[in-house]
Amino acid sequence: MMGYGYDPHLSEGAIKCPSFQTSTFVFESAEAGKAFFELANGLREPLPGEQAGLIYSRLNNPDLEILEDRLTLWDDAEAAAAFDSGMAAIATSLLAYLRPGDVLLHSQPLYGGPASFLQHVRSEFGVTPVRFDAGVALAGLEGELRERIAGRRVGAVFSETPANATNALVEIADVARFAHGLGTPDRRPVVMVDNTFLGPLWQRPLEHGADLVIYSATKFLGGHSDVIAGAVLGARAVLEPVRRLRSFLGSMASPLTGWLLLRSLETLKMRMTAQMKNARYVADFLAGHPAVTAVQYLGRMHGKDPMCRTYRRQCLGPGSLVSFEVAGGEPAAFRFLNALKLVHLAVSLGGTESLAEHPATMTHADLPQEERERMGITPGLSRVSVGVEHYEDIIADLRQALDAVGAPQRAAGVRPRVTAAD
Ligand code: PLP
Repeated sequence: MMGYGYDPHLSEGAIKCPSFQTSTFVFESAEAGKAFFELANGLREPLPGEQAGLIYSRLNNPDLEILEDRLTLWDDAEAAAAFDSGMAAIATSLLAYLRPGDVLLHSQPLYGGPASFLQHVRSEFGVTPVRFDAGVALAGLEGELRERIAGRRVGAVFSETPANATNALVEIADVARFAHGLGTPDRRPVVMVDNTFLGPLWQRPLEHGADLVIYSATKFLGGHSDVIAGAVLGARAVLEPVRRLRSFLGSMASPLTGWLLLRSLETLKMRMTAQMKNARYVADFLAGHPAVTAVQYLGRMHGKDPMCRTYRRQCLGPGSLVSFEVAGGEPAAFRFLNALKLVHLAVSLGGTESLAEHPATMTHADLPQEERERMGITPGLSRVSVGVEHYEDIIADLRQALDAVGAPQRAAGVRPRVTAAD
């Protein structure tokens, strides 16, 4: 992956791919420009040995092309497309495949961005979302889902697994099998999986039957909390409508974003491995703390959990997102979050620094309260994205912040209140 797709001799011998901060590219001749456009517009098949030429950075750019080539190696995909945000990747993929009147089948909970977008497609584009719960075997839901689909065409099936913020799993192979059974002779639903939480190190959806794997590259792929980006990968033919729409909408990543992600990919395996190892220590510590009533971490999944078989079949590691519940609801969770000193109180995840947030009032604030609670996104839940710091430092910070939750609560025997003095 480190050198893939880049020839130093084409860039003055530079060991690293430079940032091609340019909007357009000079053609050697009018004939060369004509040939490039013919290929870019699919007006003819390439001649033997002929490659697509560089035209204009909304269509192609060396930083994006090399990034996309390298991304394909991680997920063993035929092709990739880089976007200027995870939401651009999700919205462009859905719009490429949904048509008015379609049903969009999707797992829940979803991160707030796609969840709100689905409400938008319902009202603005006449697409009906039909939801199924993550964390529950699909087999038991199929009859009910067929009833709710009611013979309408299903344009796409979108799953987020593990789900943000509960780590609930969806079995991708089951979803793919069900989706294939919903197809019409002319078209079957495209199975899309948001792999932001575990991929590409700890989960490879394409191997389990997904057609498109989607990332918020803002998270682990970028990994330094300094870039907003997205990516979509899959077979060339399935990705083609997404790429085409990307060039119309202009939702591709900028050259600088591509360059930053190329740099990040070199440490992806080391970062994700270090974060996962730290998260195991953090989850074990949290599970033993008296103020913590529940921990949701894939590495602590009980053998009797209905999704444990899915985890073993589908995931290669538990990742580094740990959610946990403290007794005392929102006031107790806020007391914990406000007491943190090393771990930053911020949304987002997957960066080198540890972050903590309160899903019910932040990333998932858009969901109706009843639905949130049914999904396990309760007022006492906090989500921690474990970074690469020394795990003892992270745990020391969590301990002192949890002690700030527990002490007054135990002493007074009542739910703690957050006051101005707190
Ligand atoms: N998917 C998941 C699971 C996310 O957590 C996020 C953002 O937090 C997104 C998609 C959206 O990505 P972005 O913020 O890069 O647009």
